[in-house]
Amino acid sequence: MVDAKKVKDKISKVSEKVFSGSKNQAHKHCRICQKPIPLNAEPRVCKSSECVSKNDRDERNQKQMRLWMFIFLGLFAFSFVGPIVLNML
Ligand SMILES: [Zn+2]
Repeated sequence: MVDAKKVKDKISKVSEKVFSGSKNQAHKHCRICQKPIPLNAEPRVCKSSECVSKNDRDERNQKQMRLWMFIFLGLFAFSFVGPIVLNML
């Protein structure tokens, strides 16, 4: 037997969660300490100097990683395309 009252209760609880969830989207979270920060905060960190410097370091690491990936991808592509191009000459 399904208890109608229980179901209703559950639905209201779920919708409550959804509503509060959408309310939470009105702000962002610091990507380091997850503290709520304003939507227009850029970069996505709070004002704590620890988070700012950590984010700075992370970003630099990411840039370097992307650069290396680009280089490897270029070499990889060249190892395929290079011989073909040389054969055509
Ligand atoms: Zn933070």
